[in-house]
Amino acid sequence: MNGADDLLDVAVVGGGIAGLAAAYELHRRGLRFRVLEAAPRLGGVIVTERFDGWVIDGGPDALLVQKPAAVALCRELGIGDRLVPTLQPRTAYVMRDGALHQIVEGSFLGLPVRVSALARSSLLTWRGRLRMACEVVVPRRAPADDESIAAFVRRRFGNEAVDYLAEPLLAGIHAGDVERLSMRALFPRLLEAERRSGSVIRAFRALQTPPSPQGAFVSLPGGIGELVEAIANVLPRDSVWTSARVGELRRAAIYAIESDAGAVRARAVILGVPAYVAAHLLRGVDTTLAELCGAGAYASTATVAFGYRRAQVRHSLNGSGFVVPRVERSPLLAATWVTSKWPDRAPEGHVLLRAFLGGGRDPHRLDRGDQELVDAAREALEKALAIEGAPLFARLFRWTRQSPQYDVGHLQRLDGIERRASAIPGLFLTGSGFRAIGIPDCIADGRETAARAATYLATNSTKTD
Ligand SMILES: Cc1cc2nc3c(=O)[nH]c(=O)nc-3n(C[C@H](O)[C@H](O)[C@H](O)COP(=O)(O)OP(=O)(O)OC[C@H]3O[C@@H](n4cnc5c(N)ncnc54)[C@H](O)[C@@H]3O)c2cc1C
Repeated sequence: MNGADDLLDVAVVGGGIAGLAAAYELHRRGLRFRVLEAAPRLGGVIVTERFDGWVIDGGPDALLVQKPAAVALCRELGIGDRLVPTLQPRTAYVMRDGALHQIVEGSFLGLPVRVSALARSSLLTWRGRLRMACEVVVPRRAPADDESIAAFVRRRFGNEAVDYLAEPLLAGIHAGDVERLSMRALFPRLLEAERRSGSVIRAFRALQTPPSPQGAFVSLPGGIGELVEAIANVLPRDSVWTSARVGELRRAAIYAIESDAGAVRARAVILGVPAYVAAHLLRGVDTTLAELCGAGAYASTATVAFGYRRAQVRHSLNGSGFVVPRVERSPLLAATWVTSKWPDRAPEGHVLLRAFLGGGRDPHRLDRGDQELVDAAREALEKALAIEGAPLFARLFRWTRQSPQYDVGHLQRLDGIERRASAIPGLFLTGSGFRAIGIPDCIADGRETAARAATYLATNSTKTD
């Protein structure tokens, strides 16, 4: 397609799912683009390993159906028929004093919708349950500044709900610190429920949507890596450069981009990289914008996948897995029972388990060596699930500074970033570092960003070579 010296319409820096979704949209619109990806492979934090009947997602493994962009893209790519729902039962557990307790049924991320179900929960003390049930009479707060997840849940549901539900579940899915993560950025629906109905429980009860028989999540039989492969397959061969870390971005009338794989010139650029990488690349373009991008925090996590023979694990593994509250002082953040969650992830008679470590609440965990991380995860899993004997294998995936933390004030900082970026002709930002939480959001944001770049090119159609 394009020779290195040709002027491209768009350079896409970063071949994670946001950059790839942007590239797909540019391709669909017939634009000339190139993806420059630092790593030797595409996908960013999406990585799937397959061997001897095992299918192991090292990063994300689930697509939220409620946000339709991921499922829609799978359909467009011709892999919609391959999407599989989670297996039943879809129960998850929370650890308390080393034992696993089922999350209240019919809950929203552990927060109860029905007080009767809450009464049956074995996770919380009577006092804790009573305090949660009182949420219906806690006065609503006048709209004010952003607040942390802990502050919101504490004032509405009490301290026990923070320790055993909000911390491991609401903050846990973002690998973050419950006292710092922003309610407004991450759970606007809960704030809206309070604002409208005066009570989260009342608002959710009024919705009365029965759980979908398909469940909330889908995946692909070959792991989420299948989605990355399907996008890569439809992009023109020379439109993607891997092992092409971008070290410098200069802007005059056009953008000049220096990467390890060669130089590229483009009329517009889409940065689909972590916010701190965008900060580095933008320092010569706009120092204020660079500083705003660089101010966002990132957490580091690791996942460790273990294969066992089913007979080695005494626990029923009847559900999708468990989360571990910080107050338990375990090295584990959570663990999923992959083979109970998705079909065909392990050979017959075997189970695949996945442990999560690190995150905003345990920031130094990843300073430890590989073996130490694997051993810590293995020991904690063996204790929780009564496992006997050594695993058949362990696979460690390190995600250093890969989980953006939308802390209190994130949306305000983002407004500043967007105002500043929109004043720079031909510059666009996308991905999880900014306004996209999870794969569906990254896909929607990447595609919308590509559409905005296309509009910019159409309205600035004179070549500025
Ligand atoms: C362990 C884990 C589990 C998760 N589970 C789920 C889940 O089940 N479901 C879900 O929806 N979401 C999940 N997420 C979140 C989701 O995976 C991310 O939000 C999403 O994949 C981020 O995509 P992205 O393109 O914004 O960023 P990234 O995937 O980080 O991509 C950025 C890309 O930029 C490249 N890059 C960096 N610097 C440069 C440079 N200088 N030059 C060129 N390229 C560069 C990187 O190599 C990378 O490929 C999970 C995340 C993690 C870490």
